[in-house]
Amino acid sequence: MTVDDDPDVSRAVARDLRRRYGEDHRIVRAESGEAALDALRQMKLRGDLVAVIMADYRMPQLNGIEFLERAMDIYPGARRALLTAYADTGAAIDAINVVDLDYYLLKPWDPPEEKLYPIVDQLLETWLSSDHRPVPETKIIGHRWSARSSEVREFLARNQVPYRWYSADEPEGRRLLEAASQDGETLPVVIAPDGTVLVEPSEPELASKVGLATNPSTDFYDLIVIGGGPAGLGAAVYGASEGLRTVLVERTATGGQAGQSSRIENYLGFPDGVSGAQLTGRARRQAAKFGAEILTTREVVGLEVNGSARTIRFADGSAISAHTVILATGVAYRQLTAPGLAELTGRGVYYGSALTEATSCAGQDVYIVGGANSAGQAAVHLGKNARSVTILVRAPSLTKSMSHYLIEQVENVPAIAVRTCTEVVEAHGTDHLEGLTLRDSTTGETKTVDAQYLFAFIGAAPLTDWLKDVVMRDDHGFILTGPDLLVEGSLPAGWPLDRPPYHLESSVPGVFVAGDVRAESAKRVASAVGEGAMAVMLVHRYLEKL
Ligand SMILES: Cc1cc2nc3c(=O)[nH]c(=O)nc-3n(C[C@H](O)[C@H](O)[C@H](O)COP(=O)(O)OP(=O)(O)OC[C@H]3O[C@@H](n4cnc5c(N)ncnc54)[C@H](O)[C@@H]3O)c2cc1C
Repeated sequence: MTVDDDPDVSRAVARDLRRRYGEDHRIVRAESGEAALDALRQMKLRGDLVAVIMADYRMPQLNGIEFLERAMDIYPGARRALLTAYADTGAAIDAINVVDLDYYLLKPWDPPEEKLYPIVDQLLETWLSSDHRPVPETKIIGHRWSARSSEVREFLARNQVPYRWYSADEPEGRRLLEAASQDGETLPVVIAPDGTVLVEPSEPELASKVGLATNPSTDFYDLIVIGGGPAGLGAAVYGASEGLRTVLVERTATGGQAGQSSRIENYLGFPDGVSGAQLTGRARRQAAKFGAEILTTREVVGLEVNGSARTIRFADGSAISAHTVILATGVAYRQLTAPGLAELTGRGVYYGSALTEATSCAGQDVYIVGGANSAGQAAVHLGKNARSVTILVRAPSLTKSMSHYLIEQVENVPAIAVRTCTEVVEAHGTDHLEGLTLRDSTTGETKTVDAQYLFAFIGAAPLTDWLKDVVMRDDHGFILTGPDLLVEGSLPAGWPLDRPPYHLESSVPGVFVAGDVRAESAKRVASAVGEGAMAVMLVHRYLEKL
C-alpha cells in the first residue's frame, strides 16, 4: 500500500511498484491517511494480507507517522517505510522509535532499480519470513463465556463452515472489531469471507452469508425429507440418486446427533472410526451431487394432507408440497433441571456441544453428566486436553448403559474419573460456570466442587408435538409405523386405504418415518441410514400405486 497526498507522486510510486511487483502482489494506492486506513480496514475484514505500507511524511490531517501508527493497530505485521524529502529526515529518524519504522526513503527515488526496489525487496523478505498466514474464512469475534458466541461457533462447525475464532479481549480480536467499527459491546461479531460484518446474527442470516441455501427453489417436489441427520441424509441420497425431485429441510445444521459425535466406531466400512462431522460432510456432498436440495435453518412446524399432496409449513408461514414426506426428525437432548443450570447454559454448561468447546477446555476441570456412549465418547475426546474429566452417573456403574469398548477406553485415559451414584443438584457462577454441588445418592451427602465446564448427555426425546393431530405417536412422542399401527390386527382408525401401512409408513399414507424418531427404532447411525434408504424404496412403491 502506498499513501501520498500528491496525486502525481502517488501514481508514480504505484506505477514503479506495479512494474516490479505487480505480478505477485496487489498495489493499493491512497491519497490521504484516512482513505488508506479505510482501505486497510476493508482488507482486514476480507482477510487480505498487507505486506508493506509506504507513506509520505508530509500529508495534511494525518501525517505519515501518525498514519503508520494507526495502520499498525490494524496490520501490526506489515513492514513500514516513510517517504520523505531531504529536509524531513530528522522526523523520519524520530519515527523509527515511534512506529518502529523499517526504512525511510528520500524523494525522488529515481532510478527505482537502485533506490526503491532493493529496499522493498528487503521489506518483502522480512515480511515473508514472519508469520503471515491468510485468514480468508469466516471470522467470529466473541467472548468465551457468551452463550450466543458459542451458539454461533457451534452452528458454523455443525454446518462444516470453516471459521476462525478470535476472543474479543485478544489483540487480533480487538483489531478486527476496530476494522468493523464495533466497540465489542454486542458480541459475537461475524465477518463473512466477503468482508460483510454481522453483529449478533440469527442463524438464517448467518446461513445465507456463508453460502448455505435457506429457500426452496420450487413449491412442489416428489419427496420432502424433514431432518438432516443420518436418516434424512440417507433418504436424500437415495431419493435424489433414484431420480426423485428431493428437498431436505433441516432446522439447524445437517448431521443431527451423529454430527456431534467425535468418533463413531461401529459404522460399517470405517474400521478406524469416523467423526460425525466427516460422515456428515461426505453425506451432504453426496446428496448435493445427486441433485437433492438441502435447506438449513428452516424449521417445519406443520404437516397437512391436501388430497394426494402432502404440505409442510415452515415457521415463517410459508409452505411447500410433495407427493411424499419422510419424517426423520430424530430426537433432541433432554435438559438438566437443577437450579442455576438454565442461566449458565452456553456459559460453561453445554448440551452435546463437546466438540466445538474442546479447545477451550484445555487445562480445565470438566464434568460430564450421563452414562451412555455419547457421554463416554465426549469424555475420551475431552480427556486429551482437559486437566481432569469427571463422568457423573446416577447408576452404580457404567456397564448397563455404555458399550464395553468405550468403558475400556475411558479406563485407559488417566485424566478421566467416574463418579457413580452421583447427581448435580446445583450450579454456581455469575458470568459463567464456576462450581457444582453434587449429591451422593447412597449417603445423601453433598459436596461443592470447582468446575468450569459441564457437558450433559442425559438422553433425548423426540420433538413431535407439532405432529400430534396428524400422525399416531406412542406415549413418549415417537411416531408409530407399519405393523406397530395395527390394533389387534386391525387397520388404524382413519386409515383410508385397503392395504395396511407399509413397514415405515405412518398413519398417514405417503408419510414415512426413518431413524430415531420412529417408535421402536434402534437408535444407531447405521439403522438410521438404512431406514432412510428403505423409506425411499417404500416411497417408490407408494408412488407406483398413486
Ligand atoms: C454424541 C453422540 C454420539 C453418538 N455415537 C454413536 C455411535 O458411535 N454409533 C451409533 O451407531 N450411534 C451413535 N449415536 C446415535 C446416533 O447419532 C443416532 O442414532 C442418529 O444420529 C439418529 O439419526 P436420525 O437422522 O434419526 O436423527 P438425528 O441425528 O437426531 O437428526 C434429526 C435431525 O432433524 C432435525 N429436525 C428435528 N425437528 C425438525 C423440524 N421440525 N424441522 C426441521 N428439522 C428438524 C434436527 O435438527 C436434526 O438435525 C450417537 C449420538 C450422540 C448424541
